[in-house]
Amino acid sequence: MPGDALPYTCTLCGCLCDDLEIRVESDVVAEAKGACAIARPRLVGLDVAPRAAAACRVDGREATADKAVEAAARILAAARAPLVLGMARSTNETARLAVALADRIGATIETGDAESAWPRVVAMQRYGSIGATLGEVKARGDVVVFWGCDPATTHPRHFERYSLVGSEGRRTIAIDEGETETTRRGDVFLKVRPDQELNLLQTLRALVREAPLDPHRVVAATGHDLAALQDLAETLQGASYGAWFQGALAGRGPARLAEARRQAVTALVRELARKTRFVALGLGEAGNPHGVEGVLAWQTGFTPGVDLGAGFPESWPGESSAAERLKRGAFDAAVVIAGPFDSARSTPDGGEDVPSPLEGEGGRRPDEGSRSQGLPVAPLLIRPSGAPSPSRGEGGSWIFIGDPECDEYARATVALPAGVPGIDESGTYARADGVSLPIRALRASGNPTAGEWLERLLTAIGAATPCVRS
Ligand code: SF4
Repeated sequence: MPGDALPYTCTLCGCLCDDLEIRVESDVVAEAKGACAIARPRLVGLDVAPRAAAACRVDGREATADKAVEAAARILAAARAPLVLGMARSTNETARLAVALADRIGATIETGDAESAWPRVVAMQRYGSIGATLGEVKARGDVVVFWGCDPATTHPRHFERYSLVGSEGRRTIAIDEGETETTRRGDVFLKVRPDQELNLLQTLRALVREAPLDPHRVVAATGHDLAALQDLAETLQGASYGAWFQGALAGRGPARLAEARRQAVTALVRELARKTRFVALGLGEAGNPHGVEGVLAWQTGFTPGVDLGAGFPESWPGESSAAERLKRGAFDAAVVIAGPFDSARSTPDGGEDVPSPLEGEGGRRPDEGSRSQGLPVAPLLIRPSGAPSPSRGEGGSWIFIGDPECDEYARATVALPAGVPGIDESGTYARADGVSLPIRALRASGNPTAGEWLERLLTAIGAATPCVRS
């Protein structure tokens, strides 16, 4: 007998589609109505039989939960330079408790993919942002720009749910370094070399400001005729409601220039917003990076990384970040809140890679050398290529809270088994536009949630569970 359809929110990309219907038969997902080509193979066939509790581990050996919490609390209470990392897939509720723990032990806390988040956050601090909900874009947008991103591949339902549905006569402009599925869907395709992206953004802004420009210099700087760019600027200004979508690195150019590109996009959109309604939005990444960032900002005033070591929140991008401290070995204990979801390209069932929002927009560019390729920090700190790793007996102790099937589980000083959000654990995630949505568990788990472990740790190290700021 087929089971009842269960409402489900997919967390495999930033669309956070909350209209899926899951049907379970004989403890296996038999149907995932509404799932796209990325989600379907990961959901259909997923084993949702109740999971038995996994054993905790201390120094590589099985231990009771009480002994493991006691050992973890001892490490954290003695730590002088602790880190709290991961959380790219944590629920908002878990993130709040992680901030409370970081506050209690004076840790630096940082979300998993801080490397791609810093340019966005710093640009927003300097230039602000003009945003909207995706629902508003769906209802009102009549000009939509996709800048250096390919949602048709990385966010397959973005078009039907938000950006290309609803408004009659909507014009779509795709700007990219080459043809993609998205550029083929656009009404206008403008090709731009990654090293000319900034020039193009600044030229468009100058045109919107009606500044006189030298046609020869425009061609040299952007690779396009002034007349073609004037047409584009006219289209943008002629919108009743325009929406500018971009990926995590705001284009295809070098990651080190992502902040400059973000600022240039914001400056252009702000210029357009003087004449009409225009907004800029990210596509959003898999998991809950926006929710966790939001919790950090709400609780400490900073995001995506905060140092609470001085007894008050401080944030120095690139200086006091947890990733930098890991590279320097400047830590003596780490709490990693992770799971198979904590890689932007991993799957809930540990299956094949899925397309990442960062892929194809520079995630694997040769000029970036050994940068994290936009992947969250947590797996890298445990499986480094040359970077110091806090493994047993080699420096800092570390506590892993996450899926016991992860490789990291057997390597941690203390390992506490937790369910996977969206599979074993319910809670709330935030979409790229800041809208909070419920995510639902698909199976019963004998393991506590990451949040429950954090509460136990807080209690064990003699803390209540206060917020940094209430
Ligand atoms: S578009 Fe993204 S969130 Fe929606 S079903 Fe596909 S992978 Fe899941």
